[in-house]
Amino acid sequence: MKKNIETIAIHGSMREHMGENDTIVPGIEMSTIYEHRKGVHKEGDRKYTRLSNPNRDQLENVIKELESGEHCAAFSSGMAAISSVFQAIESGAHVLVPDDVYFGTRKLVWEFAERWNLDVDFIDMTDLDVVQSSLKENTKFIWIETPSNPRLMITDVVEVSKLAKSKGAIVAVDNTWPTPYNMRPLELGADVVVHSTTKYLGGHSDILGGAVITKGNKELFEKIRTVQVVQGAVSSPQDSWLLSRSIRSFPYRMRAHNENARKVASFLSKHPKVKVVYYPGLESHPGHKIAKAQMDDFGGMISFLVEGGADTAIKIVAASEMIKAATSLGGIESIWEHRKSSEGESSPTPDNLIRLSVGLEHADDIIKDLELALS
Ligand code: PLP
Repeated sequence: MKKNIETIAIHGSMREHMGENDTIVPGIEMSTIYEHRKGVHKEGDRKYTRLSNPNRDQLENVIKELESGEHCAAFSSGMAAISSVFQAIESGAHVLVPDDVYFGTRKLVWEFAERWNLDVDFIDMTDLDVVQSSLKENTKFIWIETPSNPRLMITDVVEVSKLAKSKGAIVAVDNTWPTPYNMRPLELGADVVVHSTTKYLGGHSDILGGAVITKGNKELFEKIRTVQVVQGAVSSPQDSWLLSRSIRSFPYRMRAHNENARKVASFLSKHPKVKVVYYPGLESHPGHKIAKAQMDDFGGMISFLVEGGADTAIKIVAASEMIKAATSLGGIESIWEHRKSSEGESSPTPDNLIRLSVGLEHADDIIKDLELALS
């Protein structure tokens, strides 16, 4: 029976039917070591917690099911997850990355691509002609972020995956912003999905984590698993347990993030001090049609340009009463930031861009606070 996402989220990390009086919610297994007197380890045996742990297995199982994948590796951060995928690409490959992309991914490429012998081009991934003309004989890997961070640009996952297949290249999608509630890239033709679980899957701004999910291509997954267990940036038993718990209510949180963001985007798009709103749910968004086709809803993130420059944007962010000025996203509380201050001078983000993570407070209260800050 194919289950719906709400059911998967609850049962994907719970215990199977156990004996009478056994717990239904799993406990946290703290032991780093397991007893072995026979010396030889069989496949599936526990040996040492960096290699496997029951809480991490439960977490990997639920995330894999949410994304309709076959394999999942859970990491100690989203960046560790992203880095594992780049390290699984064969040395000497040509790689395409969107020119609007999470700043940490950009920095990873700036700092490490040359050392890993990867030839990376940043391109406009929203333009299929540009994608096609950027492909080279040795293009082995395409990175997609849609909606992108911070400008919420939309990439056509189906079409880019087809172009990639024509070259035998692998497509990985950072699905942190849409989440599997709104988009499942493996069903659209991608090979790999990556998450910063720190964001919507965690949902309460209190867990750092990441995950990589694959379907097919066991060889690729084995390379990612090797990076995970050998380099050791694994999700701890406590974090895995807490994240599994958060995921059980994630679809209901996501529904409300979607609903609140729609109302807030509509408000911002009519405000005289707001020049442009980046939110793919607006019909005026250049990627609206593609977003509508590949997403079930548009998520909780909005970026917007204000009239004026960096100083004006910084003042606005400081003027809210309820909305906290903080980086990150996907928590139950609304937060916003002047994005360029966060990314630093080398960032290509416009000076007057504010990035807003719409939380789960009542939409009217969020809008009232925005009205106050913009006045
Ligand atoms: N991917 C995206 C789209 C993000 O927005 C972020 C963080 O903001 C990350 C990855 C990095 O995740 P983490 O901070 O968990 O390492």
